[in-house]
Amino acid sequence: MKKGIFLVTEKLHYKDNKLFFENIDLKTLVKTYKTPVYVYSKNQIIENYKNYDSALKDRAYLICYAMKANSNREILKIINGLGGGVDITSGGELYRALNAGIKPEKIVYAGVGKSEQEIIYAIKNKILIFNIESKEEAILINKVAGRYNKKVLVAVRVNPHVQTNTHSHISTGEEGTKFGIPINEVIDFFKFLSIQKYLDAKGLHFHIGSQITQINPFLAATKKVVSLIPKLRQIGIKIKYLDIGGGLGIKYKTEEPPTPVKLMKNLLKFVSKDLIIICEPGRYIIGNSGILVTKVLYHKTVGNKNFLIVDASMTDLIRPAFYGAYHNIVPIQVTDCFGENMDYYDIVGPVCETSDFLGKKRLLPNLENGDYLVVECAGAYGFSMSSNYNSRPKSAEIMVSENKFYKIRDREKYSDLVRKEIC
Ligand SMILES: *Cc1c(COP(=O)(O)O)cnc(C)c1O
Repeated sequence: MKKGIFLVTEKLHYKDNKLFFENIDLKTLVKTYKTPVYVYSKNQIIENYKNYDSALKDRAYLICYAMKANSNREILKIINGLGGGVDITSGGELYRALNAGIKPEKIVYAGVGKSEQEIIYAIKNKILIFNIESKEEAILINKVAGRYNKKVLVAVRVNPHVQTNTHSHISTGEEGTKFGIPINEVIDFFKFLSIQKYLDAKGLHFHIGSQITQINPFLAATKKVVSLIPKLRQIGIKIKYLDIGGGLGIKYKTEEPPTPVKLMKNLLKFVSKDLIIICEPGRYIIGNSGILVTKVLYHKTVGNKNFLIVDASMTDLIRPAFYGAYHNIVPIQVTDCFGENMDYYDIVGPVCETSDFLGKKRLLPNLENGDYLVVECAGAYGFSMSSNYNSRPKSAEIMVSENKFYKIRDREKYSDLVRKEIC
């Protein structure tokens, strides 16, 4: 490894001072597709999926990739090919999933604000299960299901009131968040569901947050939620599905999250074998499978601070601006006399916001304008959270697989920016 440079992404490596992703020389790739550009490793996606698969292999289970992490249809097709389904949070995601060939019986639907139109769309397409988050939502689903004379499978999203060690913006299972039914009200909630003619309430669901790197919060939530099962049985409700959500963290810097195998080994001890387990990993599947490549535009020194101004911004990757998230940043070309010209830089984008940065105080070699940097672990909540703010076209997306690469989304053009406007 080059002095002062470390890589966190397994599929990245330096060879002859050049950075490769799988077997692709990134410099060749950016010459073809320009920057900023997202690049994904197909084999990393497959490995990550299989890690979940092997963690659950002794059980009846379904892996529903949380597609809000990255919803490109090529990624959904890879998941589909591996036998997975998806966790959706909107009608738009349902459209994408169906369009990519995901089977409706492998689609689960969570979210606090499902509209009537979205509920109709999901019922008509016969998705597997609705994860219900409120009484009013249950009433509406029952009404719509009645209209189509269909009995709809539902689970209750439980808020288990557990604390996580993650950023407050992505913690969803603590008391007082908008998500789920407070755990102390769940039994009554099922009583209420049992009198809804068109609802078949057979599932328990929880999702306590994202980028959780310890086993304990998952364990606490699992124990609390499964403890409801005998109580529900007493009132005649038999639970068949246990959906344990997603949220498993990845290594961005020095984190050491458990593997899916280790996590499941701990959790499944408390879960009866009669239950069908659903899990909804998002970040774990795609986070370390993706990188963002960007070009150095300018250098600027203000006082004793060095800025590297690059062509990617918060419109491409909002996580640093949004939650102060850390992404490792490395050059795609290095030299042997590295380490002598290293300095600290803030890597910032062209957008007119002070929060527009990709990394702060990063030790990097002396780069020329036109050199490239790789932002690691950008696959999850990267492109899917990108925007056109400052009228910036969204970047292209490329898939690499061993020594092949192919485009999975075109770079937007200026004309795309105004296409929907009426004037
Ligand atoms: C976002 C979300 C997930 C995925 O979370 P990750 O941290 O990306 O694994 C799973 N389930 C639900 C309900 C979600 O909202």
